[in-house]
Amino acid sequence: MNEAPEKLDLFPYQYIGEQKKIEDLIRETVAGGVSAVIESGTGTGKTVVSMSGALQAVLGTDKKIVYLTRTKSQQKQIIHEAKAISRKRPIMCIGVQGRSMNTCPMMSKDPENAGGTSEELSRLCSEYKKDDGSGKPCKYYDNIGKMDMVDIIDYVRDSHPEPEVFSEYCLKRDICPYETVKHLIKYADVVAAPYSFIFMPHIRDRFLEWAGTPLSRMVMIVDEAHNLPDYLREVMTLEYSMRAMTLAENEALEWNDPVVHAGLTVTDIVAVLRECLDEALSEYLSGDDGMIPATFLQDELMDRLGMSSHSLNMIYKGLIDNGVMIADAKKAFQRSVQLRVETIAVPKIVEGPFLLSDHRNFWDEGYPALFLTDTAFYRNKNYHENTDTWDTLDYDRLVQVPVGLYHLILALDAAK
Ligand code: SF4
Repeated sequence: MNEAPEKLDLFPYQYIGEQKKIEDLIRETVAGGVSAVIESGTGTGKTVVSMSGALQAVLGTDKKIVYLTRTKSQQKQIIHEAKAISRKRPIMCIGVQGRSMNTCPMMSKDPENAGGTSEELSRLCSEYKKDDGSGKPCKYYDNIGKMDMVDIIDYVRDSHPEPEVFSEYCLKRDICPYETVKHLIKYADVVAAPYSFIFMPHIRDRFLEWAGTPLSRMVMIVDEAHNLPDYLREVMTLEYSMRAMTLAENEALEWNDPVVHAGLTVTDIVAVLRECLDEALSEYLSGDDGMIPATFLQDELMDRLGMSSHSLNMIYKGLIDNGVMIADAKKAFQRSVQLRVETIAVPKIVEGPFLLSDHRNFWDEGYPALFLTDTAFYRNKNYHENTDTWDTLDYDRLVQVPVGLYHLILALDAAK
């Protein structure tokens, strides 16, 4: 264990109960590079004690404290205590959050984006940040480069804003709160972050990059650590339920149970998935719980379907590729127009409205083709009737279609 660092007078209140002892224990633990698990009841001041103890071992070194919380309200408490400690010695504390209506003004202005998953929002943001003139850039991102970062650092260091207050500060200056926080992390002594920023590997990698600090130089304080087993199980678990399989079967039957690979239909695959689930229950369930090996599903599917991992991956990749291609096409179309677009992937086997256009001939000959429709006679009672006259058309929307198509074609070409 390293020698204990010099004690600093950082605790901003009168000590009560065992606070001083716990603060010393944390200071020595952090300085020694070991871990401590501390149980402390509600109202015992554990946030301020752990922060002042850890800061004594960290200030003046190249280490950074990352205070991990499960809830946003706990982030506020951390920032509140950092502000109190700053009365003794100035420190910088910043709260980080994922993209949301609060942290991404582009999303708050476009309700359609707001319902996206974090992966979709991340892809959308990457598109908006492109500087190649191919689309509509994000002004909130561009404006960050025009700001003096020192002013923003001073503001955070002096005011200790809660995340919502910091977002308001950024919005008043037309800069993106999410991206601005990323720039500030490297200057902070304490970063208050959700569990996911460390415990989800793909988020952690980006977080470490923003912080410019390796994991070995970060001191983690995990708030409410008793939540960790449940949290980790939740985020590391892939889930498929009997209900989801029944829904998949019903949906497949509605669409004539399409063949997905080598004569196997969707319901054939679902039936095998049911068998796999039964097998997992009988093999691994002990009481209410069980740990299923990571390769279980793939091994079982290969056995039961008599397929190689390559064939399984082909099915999987085909489904993903279709989904991604459709999402990309929608995004490209909407890049500079305000039209609402709905997308759907349907197997060619489906008859009816999805085949009523020229793309059908391309599909018949094996060429990939997208079908764009305004839903024709399903929406417009004048379609192909004598009443289909110029004065019934919506020209404002009409002119947006070729603009959207232009961007869609560029995107498809670039993706070739
Ligand atoms: S840069 Fe910021 S405002 Fe722009 S899309 Fe990304 S998160 Fe949203």
